[in-house]
Amino acid sequence: MLGDDIADKKISVAVPLYNEIGCVDELYQRVLTAIKKTGLQYEFIIVDDGSDDGTLEYLIEKSREDPCLKVIELSRNFGLQAAVSACLHFAEGDALILLDGDLQDPPELLSEMVDKWKSGADVVYTVKKSRKEFILKRMVFSLFYSFQKTLLNGAIPVQAGNFSLLDKKVVRAICNLRESNRYFPGLRNWSGFKQVPLYYHRDKRKTGKPKMTFFRLMKLGMDGIFNYTHIPLQFSLLMGFAMLLLAFGLSCNVLYQKFVSHQAILGWTSTILIICLIGGVQLVSISILGEYIIRIFENSKGRPEFFVRKIYKS
Ligand code: UDP
Ligand code: MG
Repeated sequence: MLGDDIADKKISVAVPLYNEIGCVDELYQRVLTAIKKTGLQYEFIIVDDGSDDGTLEYLIEKSREDPCLKVIELSRNFGLQAAVSACLHFAEGDALILLDGDLQDPPELLSEMVDKWKSGADVVYTVKKSRKEFILKRMVFSLFYSFQKTLLNGAIPVQAGNFSLLDKKVVRAICNLRESNRYFPGLRNWSGFKQVPLYYHRDKRKTGKPKMTFFRLMKLGMDGIFNYTHIPLQFSLLMGFAMLLLAFGLSCNVLYQKFVSHQAILGWTSTILIICLIGGVQLVSISILGEYIIRIFENSKGRPEFFVRKIYKS
């Protein structure tokens, strides 16, 4: 439980934005109303991830009028995970609430999250009870989450995304991690502390198109798996052994036919099939290895996740 001095506490609400001119005004108004309801001191941070549709200009204008608004302009579009890291980096409050800027995460849940934090939670992560997205996207997401659940043995809560509240100590802990190819929900979960779920219905995106393209989502999904488990490597070893066993069985069969039953070996088709199968397994195994090597390579470069071009604050 937080002490009676709760009124002195300050919360940071941070949003990554990339070309969201269609909903930035509504976002600003709704977040502001929701923060004020908590009765706490606050700062509102918006990370502009290289927008070129007027979102940044709108934010600069707002930051002149509103001293609680801090706008961080990144030097280019670095992608959602880097923008989330920037949110964590610049948050100065006793707790940070992260939410998407397309209003899929309702800002009205802020008070409930703060209440859970006041009652002692270090992390309040939200879990989507339902999603109002295109059916194919929903299917891919649930496939991804069930795959992740099996491989990670439930290590990352299913259907939990970026929308969450983190206490200052958790923000610091995650900021101090130096790995690249971040998958924020995974890191948040891995950090430990006292984590509490909050269930909600995820809305449709207000306007515009999703900025996370299929390939970006796929990369994120792979980061969410390969960064947290070595099981795929062990799986490829298992496949290798299974293939060896199969090859051994087939060799025995061939030898038997040659020396015992003296039958001519017909099976050209089966030979080709086996070659294809073994070739396929080898390729899969090599690409699984590759996924880990890419991550070692990225980490060894030690590049920062983002650069800041300018900070706007009045
Ligand atoms: N976003 C960002 N940089 C990017 C892509 C997205 O800052 O390169 C922001 C985007 O403006 C939104 C949030 O991240 O506020 C979530 O993006 P999106 O709605 O496209 O993701 P989805 O809902 O499809 O997962
Ligand atoms: Mg969205």
